[in-house]
Amino acid sequence: MIINFKDLKKGRVLEFEKIYLQNEIDVPENEVDIKDKKIKVNVKLEKRSNFILLTLNISFVLKLICSRCLENFEKKYDLKEEFYLKKGEEILPKEKSLSNEDVYTIYYQEEIIDITPLVRDTVILAKPLKPLCKEDCKGLCPICGVNWNYQKCEHFGKKMETSFGLKLKEALKNYNKLRR
Ligand SMILES: [Zn+2]
Ligand SMILES: [Zn+2]
Repeated sequence: MIINFKDLKKGRVLEFEKIYLQNEIDVPENEVDIKDKKIKVNVKLEKRSNFILLTLNISFVLKLICSRCLENFEKKYDLKEEFYLKKGEEILPKEKSLSNEDVYTIYYQEEIIDITPLVRDTVILAKPLKPLCKEDCKGLCPICGVNWNYQKCEHFGKKMETSFGLKLKEALKNYNKLRR
């Protein structure tokens, strides 16, 4: 979605809401499972003296699989991203390391900004590498496969990772994948 802010006057605010569908932001469904395939974005542009502050509040729910117990669960995200829009060309500082402001500065020639890639990056980066259904998920017994969040088996509390246990875990993982 391209926003034109040519008519935005100093001290004024442009604010609106936009619902993105997953395919509009080009996030593959087999990589990121977004509930209802919808991403709600609140867009706010504020004209300051020598830049425009762009604030995106991005809300969505991810359907995830716990990396420990392999259960499906959902996690809600409400992420706030801020960017500084500045007119002109980007001049990369040579020696000095980038400050926070440099990282979030976007340079423009004409008074337009495409927010779609910004939304896409936020969604992709939000997906955890090792999702956990809860911070203290106890996981599966590597030996008999019991979900320790629900019941304890005779192996609970013993640190054992037998090759059989690992194979079972792998098999369960594949089984869960097929079940989805
Ligand atoms: Zn879990
Ligand atoms: Zn067990």
